[in-house]
Amino acid sequence: MTKNFDVTKAKAYELVTREEISELNSVGYVLRHIKTGARVMLLLNDDNNKVFNIAFRTPVMNDTGVPHILEHSVLCGSKKYSAKDPFVELVKGSLNTFLNAMTYPDKTMYPVASCNDKDFMNLMDVYMDAVLNPNIYTRDEIFRQEGWNYHLDSEDGELTINGVVYNEMKGVMSSPDSVVSREGYHNLFPENTYSFESGGDPEFIPELTYEEFINFHKTYYHPSNSYIYLYGDVDANERLDWLDEAYLSKYDALEVNSSIPEHKSFDAPIEKEVFYAVGKDESVDKKTYFSYATVAGSVLEEGLVTAMEMLSYSILSMPGAPIQKALIDAGICEEVYGGLETVNQNIFTITAKNCPADKKDEFVRIIDETLKKIVAEGINKDSLRAALNKKEFDFREADFGSYPKGLFYCMDMMDSWLYDDNKPFMYLKMESVFNDLREKIDTDYFEKLIEKYILNNNHKLILTTNPKKGLTEEKEEKLAKKLAEYKATLTDEEIKKMVADTKH
Ligand SMILES: [Zn+2]
Repeated sequence: MTKNFDVTKAKAYELVTREEISELNSVGYVLRHIKTGARVMLLLNDDNNKVFNIAFRTPVMNDTGVPHILEHSVLCGSKKYSAKDPFVELVKGSLNTFLNAMTYPDKTMYPVASCNDKDFMNLMDVYMDAVLNPNIYTRDEIFRQEGWNYHLDSEDGELTINGVVYNEMKGVMSSPDSVVSREGYHNLFPENTYSFESGGDPEFIPELTYEEFINFHKTYYHPSNSYIYLYGDVDANERLDWLDEAYLSKYDALEVNSSIPEHKSFDAPIEKEVFYAVGKDESVDKKTYFSYATVAGSVLEEGLVTAMEMLSYSILSMPGAPIQKALIDAGICEEVYGGLETVNQNIFTITAKNCPADKKDEFVRIIDETLKKIVAEGINKDSLRAALNKKEFDFREADFGSYPKGLFYCMDMMDSWLYDDNKPFMYLKMESVFNDLREKIDTDYFEKLIEKYILNNNHKLILTTNPKKGLTEEKEEKLAKKLAEYKATLTDEEIKKMVADTKH
């Protein structure tokens, strides 16, 4: 039974919008916390697996990975929960059905879920205190431990760099598929947050100072820049009053400029070559990746994402899909993958994996020719219907395995809400989108999408990702040299302190 929510009793908030979301048997509310401007969404229904999330919009201006380091650091103790590692303690002691934190290229999220009321309330408190009152201000060693630190075992030892995020990202960067995906974003959006590595590039992580780290928290981890979400069978009046009294009311409004404008299109498609590391003795034969990537409109355009996903299934990913088949038959590659990803704009990608290095022009030519042929002869309508049926079924079924439903709805609604305060429920209200697209299958709508967003699109990147022998060693040598030079500038006393700090 849904607990009754009376919006007029939520005195600290004003109602922005209320919508029946029949698709989810839910009532959605967007509220604005009057004192701070904090955005609050309620998605109320009888689901006992309750979800809370607080997210902040966290665009970046460099590759130091400051949002990722902050995500790790705020979970290392707070004013009320000073245990050294409350996150680990929580996992052990809680009845949670989900508990995590995630850094994206433009936001950082802290979701928790539980079926138990007491546990849920406790988790909300732990997360609110973690993000707003972390111990990072009083214990700067958290930054060094989670971000980066100088490591020196003995006075005449070799100076190296250590750190949880630093080491994690070294692992991530060593995967070629990860390099391909990251370089796609960075090169399609050279002038905004997506041109940088929000997780942190190990080469640049050591450029981050403690002061910059603290300033990032002060600027972006503020109620005025927050997106709060409450889902399920919750006593919303009680929770809203509590949020206000325990946390939000302690802040004044802050003007935070975190908006992410759309990136302008290129004047003409661009080509880039980047590298990933392979061992000195490894073969580089047929180890090249070619990607054909375009920016396909705005995530805020109603129905476009679903349409592009249907298109992608039909031309690229279904068994025997024409682009996949053409590339493999021509001997360009062993595997083709790709599809649609979204930030504030949509990215459509075709990537050919394990290619001979000299096939770039042929790769592009085959894709263009295949697309032109599809446009001329008409797209396979049955494949579009199959894709739409599957999307509709998955949406209705909402079967996310052992994960809480409310978590997925949270991620869906962030896909639009983060970029437009007026479109919070866009990806939850899908009924009309499905109906509209079903009618469009029998028109030339999808052929037109190919022309507009893929073939004749100037916002296009042809990316070649080549293996490079000894790249890791090259980078390590460069870093070792830099660190040795730095060590040579230190006094004996500074070196002694460094050894002591390392031991500590
Ligand atoms: Zn991490």
